[in-house]
Amino acid sequence: MQCDHPNELGFIPKSVAMRLMKTHESIKQQRKQKQQRKDNPNAAASVDGDQQQSDTIIDYETHLENEAKRNFEKFRSQSSGAKKIGEKEICQRCHMLKHYGKVAPIKIPIEDFKNKLAAIKDMNCVVIKVVDIMDFHGTFIPDFRRIIGNNPVVLVGNKMDVLPADIHKNRIEDWLRHECKLHGMVVSHVKLLSSASRDGLASFIVELEQLRRGRDVFVVGCSNVGKSTFINSLVDEYKQKVVFTQDGQQGDDEATAAAKEKPTVMDRATTSIFPGTTLNIISVPLWHNASLFDTPGIDNPHQIIKLLRPDELKMVIPTKRIKPTVVHMIGGKSLYLGGLARIDYDGGLATFTIYTSTHLPLHLCRTDKADDLLTRQRGKMLSPPLGDAERLAEESIQLSQAKRFTIIPEKVDFRHTCTDIIISGLGWVAVKSLSKTITPMRVIVHTPTNIDVSIRDPLVPYTTTYNTL
Ligand code: GDP
Repeated sequence: MQCDHPNELGFIPKSVAMRLMKTHESIKQQRKQKQQRKDNPNAAASVDGDQQQSDTIIDYETHLENEAKRNFEKFRSQSSGAKKIGEKEICQRCHMLKHYGKVAPIKIPIEDFKNKLAAIKDMNCVVIKVVDIMDFHGTFIPDFRRIIGNNPVVLVGNKMDVLPADIHKNRIEDWLRHECKLHGMVVSHVKLLSSASRDGLASFIVELEQLRRGRDVFVVGCSNVGKSTFINSLVDEYKQKVVFTQDGQQGDDEATAAAKEKPTVMDRATTSIFPGTTLNIISVPLWHNASLFDTPGIDNPHQIIKLLRPDELKMVIPTKRIKPTVVHMIGGKSLYLGGLARIDYDGGLATFTIYTSTHLPLHLCRTDKADDLLTRQRGKMLSPPLGDAERLAEESIQLSQAKRFTIIPEKVDFRHTCTDIIISGLGWVAVKSLSKTITPMRVIVHTPTNIDVSIRDPLVPYTTTYNTL
């Protein structure tokens, strides 16, 4: 059983082996003496003494046996996780990429992200920044320019498929450009698309090729923006529709057919070019002399979805086109968005248009009765949260944060929305004043602690005829 190599099963250090051999010899000796005394009873000095000695030997043997068993189990558990000699270290994401052909999501805090991508600043590459169009501000990485240097940025607004059908794509792209500028970031290109339905992806490839000019491409974004879905769809689209030859020109049909027979891009997955980051950045050799790099998703703890369980998430994350709901508000009214947020209103007549998942129940009530309603209906009519009393009592999901905003319309305008109230991870509420004079509108937004709540210029200034509550 014993062997020389420390990494192989059965290895025992020499010192331990010597000690074991000595013990084994002495046990053998004692057994021999015991047998001799049995054969020659006259020589027995004391039966009691013999019995005692024999018990000690048996105990010691059992102890050694148990210790050997324990050591073997320990060794087995350690060696099962160890790297075999000659085996290449591969992270979970690369494993997914190689064996299942899919990019798997991974998330890290923003500070770790900055450290890991410090090298991008000095590279000549293109950066694709993916944001969730339902939560632009919650998924817009602050200080982004400082992380990536002067490299051109393509902003991808993902999940276009969930936006209401009457929203114009060009308008949203203009709005995205405007918001980027407001946040101090000039972008080279803006694209609204859907990674899930692949709407807009084919034209995106053409636009990306014009901008890329042979350079590597890095894809960055917060967790849950759909970055992995975007990369998987993009790679599939490249494989199916466009084949670029060595000099970056689009190939002919013959080249396409030949490329289809070659090993797929995913089969040639490699690990990172950055030292020490193989577990986080993976490269997909999408082009002959350049790669698409998938970076880890940045964790944003200020999104409401971070507090929710899978069954609750199903009610909050829109999976199909949202149908906004219009609510008429007067001072002293409150609006519940599930049991996760409440908006108290004080001001003249106004409409609130709610852009959230169609599965999220909305409830209008009087502000003075709102607390009582929450106590009675939380987890029932006002859900999520869902679950038993223990879940409903959890500190993290109580509406303990109150943010106040005063919205003053620029002019009397019954047609246009004046402001959006955004609750990160939940959606947004477009506010329109219907007052005949310019009246300040005061809102208090109650949410769980640390959830990002802010106001912005409206994404959709016109509200058409939607459902009313
Ligand atoms: P990552 O964490 O940024 O890599 O995000 P994933 O790719 O894992 O996607 C997060 C969630 O968003 C998943 O439930 C996806 O199905 C969903 N998702 C991704 N892209 C889209 C999209 O274009 N439209 C819709 N409706 N959902 C999407």
